[in-house]
Amino acid sequence: MRQRQKPIRGESRRQEKAMRVAALLQRRRERGREFMRRWRADPEHRDIERERRDQGYIQKKLRSAERLRHRPYTGTHGQPLCGFCGLGRPVEIVERLQISQDREEEYVKVFVPYCGHC
Ligand SMILES: [Zn+2]
Repeated sequence: MRQRQKPIRGESRRQEKAMRVAALLQRRRERGREFMRRWRADPEHRDIERERRDQGYIQKKLRSAERLRHRPYTGTHGQPLCGFCGLGRPVEIVERLQISQDREEEYVKVFVPYCGHC
Protein backbone atom coordinates (compact mmCIF):
# COMPACT_ATOMS: atom_id res chain seq x y z
CA MET A 1 0.00 0.00 0.00
CA ARG A 2 1.22 3.47 -0.86
CA GLN A 3 1.77 5.89 1.93
CA ARG A 4 -0.14 9.12 1.83
CA GLN A 5 2.15 11.98 0.97
CA LYS A 6 2.65 14.58 3.64
CA PRO A 7 1.58 18.00 2.39
CA ILE A 8 4.43 20.41 1.91
CA ARG A 9 4.31 23.22 4.42
CA GLY A 10 2.07 26.05 3.20
CA GLU A 11 1.11 24.11 0.10
CA SER A 12 -2.59 23.60 0.95
CA ARG A 13 -2.93 27.29 1.83
CA ARG A 14 -1.34 28.22 -1.49
CA GLN A 15 -3.71 25.88 -3.34
CA GLU A 16 -6.72 27.41 -1.53
CA LYS A 17 -5.59 30.88 -2.52
CA ALA A 18 -5.09 29.80 -6.14
CA MET A 19 -8.58 28.29 -6.20
CA ARG A 20 -10.10 31.48 -4.73
CA VAL A 21 -8.33 33.59 -7.36
CA ALA A 22 -9.47 31.22 -10.12
CA ALA A 23 -13.09 31.45 -8.88
CA LEU A 24 -12.88 35.26 -8.79
CA LEU A 25 -11.49 35.37 -12.32
CA GLN A 26 -14.18 32.99 -13.52
CA ARG A 27 -16.91 35.17 -11.98
CA ARG A 28 -15.40 38.30 -13.50
CA ARG A 29 -15.24 36.67 -16.95
CA GLU A 30 -18.89 35.59 -16.67
CA ARG A 31 -19.96 39.11 -15.63
CA GLY A 32 -18.02 40.60 -18.56
CA ARG A 33 -19.55 38.12 -20.97
CA GLU A 34 -23.06 38.92 -19.70
CA PHE A 35 -22.42 42.66 -19.96
CA MET A 36 -21.19 42.38 -23.55
CA ARG A 37 -24.13 40.15 -24.45
CA ARG A 38 -26.56 42.83 -23.17
CA TRP A 39 -24.52 45.60 -24.84
CA ARG A 40 -24.57 43.87 -28.21
CA ALA A 41 -28.32 43.28 -27.97
CA ASP A 42 -28.75 46.98 -28.81
CA PRO A 43 -28.63 47.37 -32.63
CA GLU A 44 -27.07 50.81 -32.29
CA HIS A 45 -24.20 49.32 -30.31
CA ARG A 46 -23.77 46.59 -32.90
CA ASP A 47 -23.43 49.24 -35.61
CA ILE A 48 -20.80 51.09 -33.55
CA GLU A 49 -18.87 47.87 -33.06
CA ARG A 50 -19.02 46.95 -36.74
CA GLU A 51 -17.84 50.40 -37.82
CA ARG A 52 -14.97 50.27 -35.33
CA ARG A 53 -13.95 46.81 -36.51
CA ASP A 54 -14.09 47.73 -40.21
CA GLN A 55 -11.97 50.81 -39.56
CA GLY A 56 -9.50 48.68 -37.61
CA TYR A 57 -9.18 46.23 -40.47
CA ILE A 58 -8.51 49.04 -42.96
CA GLN A 59 -5.83 50.53 -40.73
CA LYS A 60 -4.23 47.15 -40.22
CA LYS A 61 -4.13 46.48 -43.97
CA LEU A 62 -2.69 49.92 -44.66
CA ARG A 63 0.01 49.41 -42.01
CA SER A 64 0.90 46.04 -43.52
CA ALA A 65 1.02 47.45 -47.08
CA GLU A 66 3.21 50.34 -45.95
CA ARG A 67 5.61 47.97 -44.18
CA LEU A 68 5.88 45.75 -47.28
CA ARG A 69 6.48 48.77 -49.50
CA HIS A 70 9.46 49.84 -47.36
CA ARG A 71 10.78 46.36 -46.56
CA PRO A 72 9.52 43.76 -49.03
CA TYR A 73 9.71 40.04 -48.18
CA THR A 74 9.59 40.60 -44.43
CA GLY A 75 7.20 39.44 -41.73
CA THR A 76 5.41 41.47 -39.10
CA HIS A 77 8.49 41.42 -36.85
CA GLY A 78 10.83 42.38 -39.67
CA GLN A 79 12.15 38.85 -40.10
CA PRO A 80 13.09 37.89 -43.68
CA LEU A 81 10.58 35.66 -45.45
CA CYS A 82 10.45 33.71 -48.70
CA GLY A 83 9.30 35.89 -51.59
CA PHE A 84 7.13 33.13 -53.06
CA CYS A 85 5.30 31.40 -50.23
CA GLY A 86 5.83 34.11 -47.61
CA LEU A 87 6.27 31.45 -44.93
CA GLY A 88 9.76 30.02 -44.84
CA ARG A 89 13.07 31.59 -43.92
CA PRO A 90 14.97 32.33 -47.13
CA VAL A 91 18.18 30.38 -47.74
CA GLU A 92 19.11 31.81 -51.12
CA ILE A 93 18.30 34.65 -53.47
CA VAL A 94 17.00 33.70 -56.90
CA GLU A 95 16.82 35.77 -60.04
CA ARG A 96 13.54 36.24 -61.89
CA LEU A 97 12.47 38.29 -64.89
CA GLN A 98 9.67 40.76 -64.45
CA ILE A 99 7.79 42.61 -67.19
CA SER A 100 9.20 46.11 -67.31
CA GLN A 101 7.01 49.15 -66.63
CA ASP A 102 8.89 51.44 -69.05
CA ARG A 103 9.26 50.62 -72.73
CA GLU A 104 13.04 50.68 -73.00
CA GLU A 105 13.45 47.09 -71.89
CA GLU A 106 10.89 44.36 -72.08
CA TYR A 107 12.00 42.56 -68.93
CA VAL A 108 13.94 43.55 -65.84
CA LYS A 109 15.78 41.28 -63.44
CA VAL A 110 14.43 41.04 -59.90
CA PHE A 111 16.06 39.25 -56.99
CA VAL A 112 13.72 37.34 -54.72
CA PRO A 113 14.63 35.55 -51.48
CA TYR A 114 13.70 31.87 -51.67
CA CYS A 115 13.16 29.29 -48.93
CA GLY A 116 14.13 26.33 -51.13
CA HIS A 117 10.99 24.30 -50.39
CA CYS A 118 8.01 25.87 -52.15
ZN1 LIG B 1 8.89 29.56 -49.97
